[in-house]
Amino acid sequence: MPNLLFIADVVGSPGRDVVRALLPDLRRRLEIHLVICNGENSAGGFGLTQDSARSLFAAGVDVLTGGNHLWDRKEALEYLAGEMRLVRPANLPPGTPGQGWAVYRATDGTPVGVVNLLGRVFMKEAECPFRTADQVLAALRERCKVVFVDFHAETTAEKVAMGWHLDGRVSAVVGTHTHVQTADERILPGGTAYLSDAGMTAGFDSVIGMEREPALRRFLTLMPERFTPATGDPRLNAVLVRVDAATGRAQHIERLQIPYREAGNGVRARRLGGEEPAAALRAGARARIAELSGSGVRPVLALVSVGEDPASQIYLRKKSEACAEVGIETRHVTIAAGTDTRTVVERVRTLGGDPKVHGILVQLPLAPPAEAPAVLDAIPPDKDVDGFHPVNAGRLAAGQPAMVPATPRGILELLRYHQIPLTGRHAVVLGRSNIVGRPLSNLLSMKGVDMTVTVGHSASGPALREIARTADLLVVAMGRAETVGAEWVKPGATVVDVGMHRVPDASAKSGHRLCGDVAARAVESVAGALTPVPGGVGPMTVAALMANVVAALERQLRAERIPT
Ligand code: NAP
Repeated sequence: MPNLLFIADVVGSPGRDVVRALLPDLRRRLEIHLVICNGENSAGGFGLTQDSARSLFAAGVDVLTGGNHLWDRKEALEYLAGEMRLVRPANLPPGTPGQGWAVYRATDGTPVGVVNLLGRVFMKEAECPFRTADQVLAALRERCKVVFVDFHAETTAEKVAMGWHLDGRVSAVVGTHTHVQTADERILPGGTAYLSDAGMTAGFDSVIGMEREPALRRFLTLMPERFTPATGDPRLNAVLVRVDAATGRAQHIERLQIPYREAGNGVRARRLGGEEPAAALRAGARARIAELSGSGVRPVLALVSVGEDPASQIYLRKKSEACAEVGIETRHVTIAAGTDTRTVVERVRTLGGDPKVHGILVQLPLAPPAEAPAVLDAIPPDKDVDGFHPVNAGRLAAGQPAMVPATPRGILELLRYHQIPLTGRHAVVLGRSNIVGRPLSNLLSMKGVDMTVTVGHSASGPALREIARTADLLVVAMGRAETVGAEWVKPGATVVDVGMHRVPDASAKSGHRLCGDVAARAVESVAGALTPVPGGVGPMTVAALMANVVAALERQLRAERIPT
């Protein structure tokens, strides 16, 4: 099943640098069998020359495609006419130098037809691309099942029409030319992978790949300007298409947008801090509490602990402080270590029946012999601000309104705050605990969030790393310090590090440092975005708990008790 990688319009030397830096690793990681690349802007932003083609081939490109700018460099005409690894638009008048389609062998042995076509709407004159496509396919029929079409066109309508025209007859139709990647990738009913535009491989701090200033001046003054390829914020745009070699039908299409960071230049994955979104969540809770206090209501949270576990004492103190800050009153219920389950359950039931208590949180672990499951079951579901009661867990799993555990809720709020695209993307959640992994996987896959979710755990085996590498969003909640390294991460993916560990560090004054489940240093150089530890998920968990207490109070005020 060949994996085809198509690299979007490479603009000038910044684009070529990105390809050179990222392609070798991408080829290996994604197990690419053939790399096709639109190179018509790779020479100084206009045209393709022998030098620019050579540098792209050296980087690992197998086939170049063109477009309306292909012949902008007169000095390259002879070279372009004879380069057999180049496919120029097929729908040009007879006598145009070069070939409009060709068959190449992917590294897995599959013959792959590559076709380049020019659109006609708002473009210079060309023959009908639809009829030309029909003729090319007739010529390719006996030679290959897998066919990739680069449709270089200005309008989306013409591209979409081409997708439908070729559906079931080619493996992929991918648009180029507008330099803005579209988010409409899909596999059409006949098995053709389709994307309106693959985007560009270029400096993104630009106007479609060119320096901003002259481009803006041109729009403002309408005077001619000299355009140069932009260097700021270089990124690689590409499309990965997996095809069934036997039928030519596409099995998978995926857009890639990978920021380029030169090794050692200090640019790292975007930091998805939790402090700001947590402050926003707390401010929302505080404002609502202030409103409610007008009608004489103040939320009360009971913090129940059994025994004096030192870590638990720290967590309880942090939660109390956060409650005080937003205006939630806390009632500490400290039960002596050694108390049996029945007695603890009775205390929790009494709190559950108290109308002046709106939320109950049982701090885990409980000192033995008290057993957590029975104690958690004793919390009325509508006061279960941790969301651990089976009724809440079940309702969340069923996609019904429920009290969502604070860490998963905090993670979703954090991703939304930082505008991480989720719909239709693949999330891999490493860990299946009832506190983090399992509820988070339910939350991410529910309607409205709409991710495709895979859950990994300790029995997933060595394949888990490969699975993790397919994730657009990788959430790590394994409770194992610095276990997930760069080799677990797809380039450009978003990584959420839930883990929290204190590990010895001789270089630190305190003799220790805090870290997560992710080896942050290594992952930063591959991921597109990463939550820090500390300062990522931690503050969100506490803020989400505050929001849950307010939600519990409001529900009780409306007497909308969660049915048991
Ligand atoms: P947990 O109950 O120990 O669960 C760990 C999960 O990871 C389990 O499902 C386990 O699989 C899986 N796992 C363990 N080793 C693995 C491996 N080598 N490969 C794949 N999966 C593996 O932990 P948790 O309560 O979910 O917490 C996870 C981490 O997040 C901890 O470090 C915790 O301190 C931290 N945490 C932080 C916050 C915060 O606010 N920052 C909140 C909650 C938790 P099995 O089910 O097969 O055992």
